[in-house]
Amino acid sequence: MKPVLTIALAGNPNAGKTTLYNHLTGARQHVGNYPGVTVEHKEGYCLRRGQEIRVVDLPGTYSLTAYSAEELVARDFIINERPDMVVNVVDASNLERNLYLSCQFLELGVPLVIALNMIDVAEKRGVTINAEELGDRLGVPVIPIIARSGKGVGKLLDAVLAAATADIRPQPVFLQYGSDIDQALTDMTPDLTACASLTAIYPHRWLGVKLLENDEQIVHKIMETHPEAGKQLTARCETVSHHLQDTLGVYPEAVIADHRYGYIKSILLQGVVTRKFVADRLYTSDKIDKVVTHRILGPLIMAGILYCLYTFTFSYSSLPVEWLSKFFALISKGVDTLLPDGPLKSMIISGVVDGVGGVFGFVPIIMFMFFGIAVLEDSGYLARVAFMMDRIFHFFGLHGSSVMPFIISGGIAGGCAVPGVMATRTLRSPKERLATLLTVPFMNCGAKLPILTLLIGAFFSDHQARYMFLSTLVAWLIALCAAKLLRLTVLKGASTPFVMELPPYRFPTLKGLLIHTWERTWQYMKKAGTVILGISILVWAMMTYPGLPDAQVSRYASLRQEAQRTMAADGAELRKALEKIKADEAREKLHHSIGGQIGVALERVSRYAGIDWRTNIALIGGLAAKEVIVSTLGTAYSLGGIDAKENSSLQERLNRDPHWNPVVALAVLAFIMFYSPCSVTVICIARESGSWKWAAFSILFNTLFAFALAVAIYQIGILLYPR
Ligand code: GDP
Ligand code: MG
Repeated sequence: MKPVLTIALAGNPNAGKTTLYNHLTGARQHVGNYPGVTVEHKEGYCLRRGQEIRVVDLPGTYSLTAYSAEELVARDFIINERPDMVVNVVDASNLERNLYLSCQFLELGVPLVIALNMIDVAEKRGVTINAEELGDRLGVPVIPIIARSGKGVGKLLDAVLAAATADIRPQPVFLQYGSDIDQALTDMTPDLTACASLTAIYPHRWLGVKLLENDEQIVHKIMETHPEAGKQLTARCETVSHHLQDTLGVYPEAVIADHRYGYIKSILLQGVVTRKFVADRLYTSDKIDKVVTHRILGPLIMAGILYCLYTFTFSYSSLPVEWLSKFFALISKGVDTLLPDGPLKSMIISGVVDGVGGVFGFVPIIMFMFFGIAVLEDSGYLARVAFMMDRIFHFFGLHGSSVMPFIISGGIAGGCAVPGVMATRTLRSPKERLATLLTVPFMNCGAKLPILTLLIGAFFSDHQARYMFLSTLVAWLIALCAAKLLRLTVLKGASTPFVMELPPYRFPTLKGLLIHTWERTWQYMKKAGTVILGISILVWAMMTYPGLPDAQVSRYASLRQEAQRTMAADGAELRKALEKIKADEAREKLHHSIGGQIGVALERVSRYAGIDWRTNIALIGGLAAKEVIVSTLGTAYSLGGIDAKENSSLQERLNRDPHWNPVVALAVLAFIMFYSPCSVTVICIARESGSWKWAAFSILFNTLFAFALAVAIYQIGILLYPR
């Protein structure tokens, strides 16, 4: 027996792999209801009867072809890393569809144990499965489990241990694929046998089937290692393909798939599955879906739910937001009285408290929003959103699988473009994938929420929820139009069809909701406390140094003396004059700083969009991470000494500042929503698209686009509402 046994959890998306993985390893991985979340594999350890077991959670796949990145990750792991056992997690309530993947494992001849999951759901639907019979027919152990409660998991591990120690290398199962294909496979045998370096890794019949399925990875490998045999083989495949198209009008892949399903059906019909007649054969889910995904009602309900989400968020979070803002003002004041004047005090008040406090101040809003999203996600509604959006997406040259990346990036609110960009791996067409990759950063991610909330709160406070809702719609509209534009120009090409299965609705558990809300909120807070803190201090330094030249400092000193001399009689007036001098000095100092200089230089261009130099500093900070926009504005407006009244919130400061008004706010909002993605997203885009060219493209394209939009808004705005 090996010291550590490796088992890989494989199966369709939503079969319960992650739930089983969490149960086995005690980890708390995020459980998502949609495809595209677990792209990379995760691993952990567990112990059974003294045997240490390494558990790897593979991405969910419906098949083992090389069409999508997930399927390749899963397949390559199983073939190259040779886990001691593949545990195929199968959703018992959707057995036929799930066994399609199991069938491919059997053809591949990997050591297999089937975990027949969700038997509770199957039973509720009146379906009973004879696991032993199924196992006998398939030739592998089949163990019924309920991953959610852990029932049967012990038995499953025992079966895995038993099979792993049995020491019989399983043989690939031979399926019949119909006379044409079977004949071709026989004809191909000699050439396949010649490809020795590959048959050492893959069963040779399997190689043949893959060639017939036109599997890019395998075709490429054969052509690379054995070009001669490869040519013969692909020629033979083409003959069959033409023949099948002439006679049946289908490609070999379809014939092979049909025979796999035929094999599964024949097994299931032999007393493996018994259905009790359930009075309500239209399951509750289907019934709900009739309404919720209805052509006309569906989108209306979706808009309604979204609107409720925003109303819920803004009405319930306003009180805690106020408390937090008071709390940070108190800290500011405390530091102000405790510390002597100087750079340290300035750094703590302007860099740390105003900067990070600004970001922390939004925790309640973020938390409420995340809670709402968790409800939508855990109940299965988010998958319906994807389903409905699919129709619209096709029109814009995207794919149904693009929907999830958009939603993950903040399509409802509060996501992040980084996982969004990674989730595009589910897309099979490279052009559709690129178009998705480049447009998901337009969504309102969690980091943009604070600044959106801030500006909306400051200038459109009467209709906060309504404007937030509107900004989401605008983000979608712009993203889709940009995608269409890309698909009509640099990414021209046909679109590919999409099939999606809707997971049944589930009643979310309070525990699950709280865990999800907390995980995401905690991530936000962690980022605020680490990365954002660092950048915030850096930006503070940029806005503080090199400081005013001595001549200026002494000029302000003499102004102060002057005021003291002339207004000594009137205490109130003197205080006012001194505060004004202090503000002027602070403003000039900021203006003179490195950050200020950059902001001022950019103002020459940005003023066409009504964006002033202080906002420019914040926008540059936002290139590192979007959260920094709020914190930098906080620092800029506190260092800038804009108003003499201490301890007022940034929102109040902006509202009172002569430069700002609703038109400026709208232009700035538009710019922030659509300009260059943050640095991490840019890096991800480069990695996922495989080239820095696209990353650079997204920086330039988005920034120019956002700027044009902001200029248009500002120019039209000042025409309509002159100051
Ligand atoms: P994965 O995509 O294969 O990783 O699937 P997940 O582990 O994310 O599970 C999808 C959903 O099915 C989650 O909401 C789970 O709570 C739920 N689930 C998993 N196993 C069971 C089970 O045995 N019974 C029931 N009723 N639900 C389950
Ligand atoms: Mg998963």
